[in-house]
Amino acid sequence: MPSPKGPPELKHLDHVLVTPSAIKRRIGTLADQLNHDYAHKDMMVVAIVNGALIFAADLLRALRTPLRLDCLRASSYHSSTKAVGEPRIVDQMKLDVRGHNVLLVDDILDTGKTLAAVAGMIHAKGAATVRTCVLLDKKARRAVPFEADYVGFEIPNEFVVGYGLDFNERYRNLPCIGVLKPKYYAGL
Ligand code: 5GP
Ligand code: MG
Repeated sequence: MPSPKGPPELKHLDHVLVTPSAIKRRIGTLADQLNHDYAHKDMMVVAIVNGALIFAADLLRALRTPLRLDCLRASSYHSSTKAVGEPRIVDQMKLDVRGHNVLLVDDILDTGKTLAAVAGMIHAKGAATVRTCVLLDKKARRAVPFEADYVGFEIPNEFVVGYGLDFNERYRNLPCIGVLKPKYYAGL
């Protein structure tokens, strides 16, 4: 149930799929795995923004391995809940990934097109290793063969918002992951 102290837009949710405490616990476990797998390795995290912003912020603070952070912007949803065409990747990276162990962090793996394209691009730039970590995975929606190395939660085929994920750039600040009431998706 939405907390009376939470953002008022919590009332727009039809149902919550992942609670704040479940997110926190799961990020702790993911960080344990990453701390183990990247122990003594120099890690370069590339977060795909805006969606991965909140997840990356919480995940990175639980990592104990030396790391550097850069961001990439990618978008395939233009004011709708249906991905349109191929993902648009805006490569404004400052760091040189050549020879580095890159961890791509994204909010959600859906058709797989974004991460497949970004991972290909990072490989082509000469990264030593490229792994991917996503908070959410909608396996049923995959259009290209792509699996993430680290997955927070598998979720059903529903369009979700919150914890970084938007609808029309709103709802990113909700502390949970949820599905909007149909009337808030209306008019598209
Ligand atoms: P893909 O290329 O895997 O189809 O899409 C990945 C991107 O689409 C994600 O990074 C995210 O920005 C967006 N996306 C996919 N599914 C959802 C969803 O259920 N909710 C929101 N808000 N964005 C989604
Ligand atoms: Mg995204």
